[in-house]
Amino acid sequence: MRFCESCGMPFSQDPENGGTNSDGSKSTDYCSLCYKDGVFLDGCTTAEEMQEFCMKKMREKGTPKGIAWVSTRRIPKYKRWKNT
Ligand SMILES: [Zn+2]
Repeated sequence: MRFCESCGMPFSQDPENGGTNSDGSKSTDYCSLCYKDGVFLDGCTTAEEMQEFCMKKMREKGTPKGIAWVSTRRIPKYKRWKNT
């Protein structure tokens, strides 16, 4: 199973099955919610910002705080954030 290298969402949960690169091809690293036409949509510049962003999104969808917290803990390990 593949995960988005930005937010950690499984690709199987992505309705678009992946974001798009600037040349229109499918991204194999990032989901459609994070990445479109070669640009990150969330505007986050650090893993911490992304964790907060994802927590907020999950809370809006009714995800319990504890689960939202656990599922964002791995974000700093993903490719997009490794060098930040
Ligand atoms: Zn993503």
